[in-house]
Amino acid sequence: MSRYLGSACKLCRREKEKLFLKGERCFTNCALDKKRGKNGPGQHGAAKSKMSDYAKHLREKQKARRIYGLTEEQFRHYYEVAEKKKGSTGDNLLILLELRLDNVVYRLGLASSKKQARQVVNHGNVLVNDKKVDVPRYQLKAGDVVTVPEKYKENAVIKKLIEKTSTNVPSWLSFDKNKVAGTIVSEPTAAETSHPIDSQLIVEYYSK
Ligand code: SF4
Repeated sequence: MSRYLGSACKLCRREKEKLFLKGERCFTNCALDKKRGKNGPGQHGAAKSKMSDYAKHLREKQKARRIYGLTEEQFRHYYEVAEKKKGSTGDNLLILLELRLDNVVYRLGLASSKKQARQVVNHGNVLVNDKKVDVPRYQLKAGDVVTVPEKYKENAVIKKLIEKTSTNVPSWLSFDKNKVAGTIVSEPTAAETSHPIDSQLIVEYYSK
């Protein structure tokens, strides 16, 4: 299945929740903050209905998939990897997703959205331990250092983003503003991941 290219806001309306897919705009000009935007898309978007258990499980899986910008196959792959690891499959899944390079670039504030973070990585503007890595799915681990090439530090967009970052990074990351370098201090716990996702519902979805 190919990547979704439609309206990001439509995905939020579908999940009836802000998924923060558009960077700054999500904080300043979000349709979901206005009454009309709280309904789902389409002519039946406003209809109230009781969700079946299956629908709840499906929606949580779709929400997580959309937050991380993954196709169905990619998300399923993460689930299978999480299942093989020791410990809680749901927690493993969230931690694996959070440690993707594009997500960490976003969490460090080096991009204003996950979509932009993916582009920054794809364009070769991210180094991991001083080596160029242009694969957004690259899996980071504790101790890895994420930086940008010298020439990219002069980019007006990145300069503006760096001004704002460092105060907002989560506790499992650290950011050195002078070096424009982020370090994975430790792997995040499931509770430290970016979004309120009920991973148990996702496990139940795949376990049926
Ligand atoms: Fe659109 Fe962002 Fe609001 Fe979602 S959170 S509806 S992507 S502006």
